[in-house]
Amino acid sequence: MRRFNGDKLVIATHNAGKLVEISALLAPFGIKVTSAGELGLEEPIETEDTFAGNARIKAHFAAKSSGFPALSDDSGITVDALDGAPGVYTADWAETPAGRDFPMAMTKVWDLLEGKNAAKPRTATFNSTLCIAWPDGHDEVFEGRVSGRLVWPMRGDLGFGFDPIFLPNGEDLTFGEMDPARKKEISHRADAFAKLVAGCFA
Ligand code: IMP
Repeated sequence: MRRFNGDKLVIATHNAGKLVEISALLAPFGIKVTSAGELGLEEPIETEDTFAGNARIKAHFAAKSSGFPALSDDSGITVDALDGAPGVYTADWAETPAGRDFPMAMTKVWDLLEGKNAAKPRTATFNSTLCIAWPDGHDEVFEGRVSGRLVWPMRGDLGFGFDPIFLPNGEDLTFGEMDPARKKEISHRADAFAKLVAGCFA
């Protein structure tokens, strides 16, 4: 396992919600962070069908283009009654000609569940795979998850993406209603981040 011992890390994302969460998770480590968006890097095409595969594409692309180690997150929600969909295609389900529309994507997921009269609770898992890649081509990959169920209607306008319909196990509030500080303790991203810290920052 390779340690990160530089002082600058590129966060390989153009997703504002992920950037906020990853920056908050990195804050205690005193690392100078910049994002792929701030550096004007392109967004590589995610051609793999696994979270790890796409996380690797994003981190390696940012590390090679910037010359600094880069940290990416590939994530999504897998719904059991939909055979794991939307999974790695979570962001794609929100695509419209006018940009990403997550209320539309959440409605699509709920309508599919209603259409097949799926039993409740409608269990789902949020997955986050973090990849840290170095400009020389080395990488380390860490997977995190949090289990819960989907609720309807949408609840809360905090967070991003599918947060308003995801109720984590043991919680009363959806990720969309929850204080971001609480989400930071229990999320799929926090789970993967703890493994990254143990492996590369400890
Ligand atoms: P990608 O990793 O860029 O392919 O996009 C993952 C998508 O999964 C995001 O655009 C969100 O819709 C969704 N997602 C991932 N993590 C979260 C989260 O913490 N809350 C809500 N939605 C998330």
